[in-house]
Amino acid sequence: MTDTIRYETDADGIALLTIDLPGASMNVFNEQLIKDLDTCVDKILADDAVKGAVITSGKSTFLAGADLNMLGSQSGKGATLEEKFAGAFALNKLFRKMETGGKAPKVLAIEGTKPFAAAINGLALGGGLELVLACHYRVVADDPRIQLGLPESQVGLLPGGGGTQRLPRLIGIQAAAQAITTGKPFNPMTAAGLGIVNEVAPLADVVTKAKEWVKKTSSAIAPWDKKGFKYPGGAGAMNPAAVQTFIGANAMAQKQTQHNYPAIEAVLSCLYEGGIVDFDTAIRIESKYFLKLLSGPVAGNMIRSLFINKQAVEKGSLRPKGFERKTVKRLGMLGAGLMGAGVAYVSAKAGMDVVLLDRDAAAAEKGKDYSRKLVETGVSRSKVTKEKGEALLSRIHTTSDYADLKDCDLIIEAVFEADEVKRDVTQKTEAVIGKDVVFASNTSTLPITGLAKNFTRPHQFIGIHFFSPVDKMPLVEIIMGEKTDDETLALALDYVSQIKKTPIVVNDSRGFYTSRCFGTYVSEGYAMVQEGVKPALIENVGKMSGMPVGPLAVGDEVAIDLGYKIGIATKKALGDKYVASPADAFAEKMVVELERFGRKNGKGAYVYPEDGSKKHLWPELSDHFPVAANQPSVDEVQSRLLVRQAVECARCFEEGVLIDASSGDIGAIFGWGFAPWTGGPFSFIDTYGVAKFVAEADRLAQAYGPRFTPPKLLRDMAAKGETFYGKGDTRGRLTKAA
Ligand code: NAD
Repeated sequence: MTDTIRYETDADGIALLTIDLPGASMNVFNEQLIKDLDTCVDKILADDAVKGAVITSGKSTFLAGADLNMLGSQSGKGATLEEKFAGAFALNKLFRKMETGGKAPKVLAIEGTKPFAAAINGLALGGGLELVLACHYRVVADDPRIQLGLPESQVGLLPGGGGTQRLPRLIGIQAAAQAITTGKPFNPMTAAGLGIVNEVAPLADVVTKAKEWVKKTSSAIAPWDKKGFKYPGGAGAMNPAAVQTFIGANAMAQKQTQHNYPAIEAVLSCLYEGGIVDFDTAIRIESKYFLKLLSGPVAGNMIRSLFINKQAVEKGSLRPKGFERKTVKRLGMLGAGLMGAGVAYVSAKAGMDVVLLDRDAAAAEKGKDYSRKLVETGVSRSKVTKEKGEALLSRIHTTSDYADLKDCDLIIEAVFEADEVKRDVTQKTEAVIGKDVVFASNTSTLPITGLAKNFTRPHQFIGIHFFSPVDKMPLVEIIMGEKTDDETLALALDYVSQIKKTPIVVNDSRGFYTSRCFGTYVSEGYAMVQEGVKPALIENVGKMSGMPVGPLAVGDEVAIDLGYKIGIATKKALGDKYVASPADAFAEKMVVELERFGRKNGKGAYVYPEDGSKKHLWPELSDHFPVAANQPSVDEVQSRLLVRQAVECARCFEEGVLIDASSGDIGAIFGWGFAPWTGGPFSFIDTYGVAKFVAEADRLAQAYGPRFTPPKLLRDMAAKGETFYGKGDTRGRLTKAA
């Protein structure tokens, strides 16, 4: 018996190890579990009365991988390289001891060792699957929801417990490369088909089946420890199939990652190098690459933003204390257009009743059609049962009558983006709803404080800003008006948690946080076209920087005329404070003179052929915006695109629009796709070095205009040697408004 593993032996001399971390809902590899497993393995190997062992879990999940909080805080600073390697190799060493019984390869090949079997009763991801793969036999429960996968590359790491070596030896290099670089899990049947597991059994029988195998196995040996082992499909520098696989895999991986994700390159290196050496050397190679990734900035930044901080906000870290958790049962959704229809769907899906109101019954029904379509697709793909789909639809009640909003416990407005329309629906709604019902607006540009004036209870007025398409986009930006109170914020966060989205909370400002900063990416692309930079260079460098698409492509998606209109409104509102950019002239010419609005009228910086063939850059762009003789370098374009966005984010931080650096990072990655490899703009500035970043922004301001001028906050931080994230601090610096 250890802290994390129950150890029992039965009459057949089979040890049953049940992993059960105390006080945790899921099993994960932490330092204690590694230590305890080591103790148990030693005990099994040393005890002659023990014939072999079965490993299972005492929870509904088997093992969900390594504790990323532990990895994220493992700086290893001060340790020697040997000590750091020993740390990275610990899991490999333990698994290998279990697999070989600690025997030398030649002895093992003759004698074999005590059998270990895994009884997989729930999901096994990352280190969980690696533990399973190091067992000699694997039985998995026949539940299709169980996931078996190696998702480490999604947070900038690689499977460092032998995963990059055992999986390709089981299923071949091509399939393993696919699984490890994408992180896509297998279900039990697929895993069995590929040979990742040996047996699929009913949940109640997995331990018995695993024991039966141990009982009849006097000595075990992994396939790769047998003499003459060969990779399925081949491996090695001289194997034509393997060489072909690597040519393809490298090209594909780099196309998708644009060299921004060192983990992908490292995985492919592990697979290649591991295929030309013996197993014990191969796992040392794996640990070397693992350590390299762990010591580099990308994994640390990705783990912090994509995992630790994302989970923290989803679990309520931004929720003010002292307010009872509430459940929204009936949502009033004003406006059944693109956004309202999406919000109605995700809310009904989460079990809420939704009153979907539009100007007339037909418009409201049209909004409900959106849900009907999604349900239909879900049912046809067996993602949802017909009954559940019908129940979801029955929860959406369409109307044009405000009286139907009477019993709603939250209202969200997504009508046209016009002050007078918003005022009208707000007042009509307030007249019929309860006296403490919160009213939220999904406006993308109108300040919340101004809209709150249409409501007699501004403390209960808040911004809940969704992204399109609502059912796919994970982020929700909650905006506090000047008078919004904490209880209202708590309810908004409770609602976001009900629909299982990731919230950030920001203070009111023109364009809030996401729209304001995202806009700079598009504008910088426009500015460059106006200056004569080749559009293809801009678009390709945008993608090479790690942004999902180029600035001109995304500008076409959101509509050039919308950006132009917002620009005019901003100029009007800011007066002398407005910082002009060459982008203004680009947008004006495209909209007013050329009537190219983007995808919506089939004409933007791109051409959208009517026959549905692939869009391409508009060849005549250069007639209207002549291409300069001297073109900037890739690095220069990349710096403009990323630094421009990060400067705006830093300004939001300085102005108190943001509450903390981590919200800024999460909002940027999940809101507008800011290069995830950076961990977000604040992680990017830290990694760049604040002083170096300030110098680069100053240089760009000198060359291209004051929109690049770094805010005072950054100069002060540079002078004091400060960063947004301190050592071991994941939330990051708080703004004065926090
Ligand atoms: P939309 O034009 O698709 O839908 C607006 C809906 O509001 C229409 O169905 C319209 O009939 C209805 N409507 C208009 N006046 C009304 C009234 N007086 N009473 C009842 N219904 C009325 O617009 P959308 O794209 O869904 O945007 C709605 C809001 O969401 C806007 O404030 C917009 O700024 C914001 N928003 C849009 C996006 C986006 O990507 N489209 C993203 C975030 C926020």
